[in-house]
Amino acid sequence: MQVQAVMVHPKALKKIKEKEKAKEQIMGYFAQASAAFPADQKKASLFIHKARRVAMKHRYRMPPELKRRFCKRCYAYLQPGVNARMRIHQGNKVVTCLDCNHIERIPFKK
Ligand SMILES: [Zn+2]
Repeated sequence: MQVQAVMVHPKALKKIKEKEKAKEQIMGYFAQASAAFPADQKKASLFIHKARRVAMKHRYRMPPELKRRFCKRCYAYLQPGVNARMRIHQGNKVVTCLDCNHIERIPFKK
């Protein structure tokens, strides 16, 4: 029996690796944002800006758990109870950014 090796184009491999690196960078920025947040909310949102820039550059789709942690309008790092209000309304999770009053509705998964 012959085992066929899966050929990966070197350029494609490089792209995969770059995306992996971008993901790591983004996770790092989010970690820094959450660390900076209690002392300096503006600094935290700066890290979110950086994370977003990396994501856009690499066309990386942020996972939902990250997407929910910042405001899509002003890119503030959101901490429920501090600068965000979270409510359940008609089967939606409603997150209000208290910095710019942007309202985000997140439907519940069944
Ligand atoms: Zn906002």
